[in-house]
Amino acid sequence: MGARRTFTSGLVAAIALAVVAAGASTAAASPAAATGSVPGITRPLPDDSYGLSSYYGPRCMPIRGASTYHLGQDMGASRGTKVKAIRKGTVVKAGSAPGFGQVVVLRHSVDGRRIYTVHGHVVDGDRYVRTGQRVKQGQRIADVGSSGTSTSPHLHFEVWTDEYKGSGSTRDPITWMRAHGASLYAGAAWAYTRSVPSSCTYFTTGSVNLRTGPGTGYRVIRTVPVNRKLTAKPGDSSGAWRKVTRLGTVGWMHADYVSPWVTSLGTRYVSANGLRLRARPSTRSDVRATLSKGTAVSMIHPPKGDWVKVYVKGKFGYVAREYLRR
Ligand SMILES: [Zn+2]
Repeated sequence: MGARRTFTSGLVAAIALAVVAAGASTAAASPAAATGSVPGITRPLPDDSYGLSSYYGPRCMPIRGASTYHLGQDMGASRGTKVKAIRKGTVVKAGSAPGFGQVVVLRHSVDGRRIYTVHGHVVDGDRYVRTGQRVKQGQRIADVGSSGTSTSPHLHFEVWTDEYKGSGSTRDPITWMRAHGASLYAGAAWAYTRSVPSSCTYFTTGSVNLRTGPGTGYRVIRTVPVNRKLTAKPGDSSGAWRKVTRLGTVGWMHADYVSPWVTSLGTRYVSANGLRLRARPSTRSDVRATLSKGTAVSMIHPPKGDWVKVYVKGKFGYVAREYLRR
């Protein structure tokens, strides 16, 4: 399935490139051809200014509290890259929105059907446009930013049919844009491989209840302390709740307490050369790394007895508490 999808995408991208090349000779007659798109639909970012990073569909949470079913296509680009209307339309939202930080939502008519395009994490949603304003195809509507739940500058681009939210439904932007003659692959400078992992690894961000269902009304199975490892299937969620497995027990946790990274409980510095990072809190346990004086380590459990669980150089382990300094 994965290989077949990759092959199909590559083939269509090649065809789209051929169309662009053929259109170049008529660039003077058709402004749309000069931008690398067939008339009717324009890619939302200038060609070669972006890469395809996170794809539509089930995924692992890329950041604490993020969604595990991605409703759009992420297009990594420099801050300030111009975001363009893919087609003429009307601005239905320009400003702040939960998760997106700043967003511009446009309504268009395509083949007699109502289509909405959503442009998330932009710098200021109302920098260039206002709600109710008409926009032309290719018009600058925003700048790429990293507002809201985002780790680096990118455009989060969604395509909805019929309605935005409510009874509307999202489309895979890669598929929809390709079907409308403006392949996102064809304009991309780079693209990550499109694959969905079979399992996600997360960590608790604090002491959190594992419940039998997605809500505070469900019974608590157990309380899990900070920085304990969880596994989950991509897309296994219900609103703000994530279905996770902790030591073989399946349950639900609120997304705010689930992160792809460990949470540092404070930084400490190694005070002696050759300090051993052990697999277990015992001098008979395996050595995972040898640390030199001055190395910074992140405490991931509160200190207990003579040992401290730490995270250093991509590894978890235990070090003797007496050789750590503030
Ligand atoms: Zn996104």
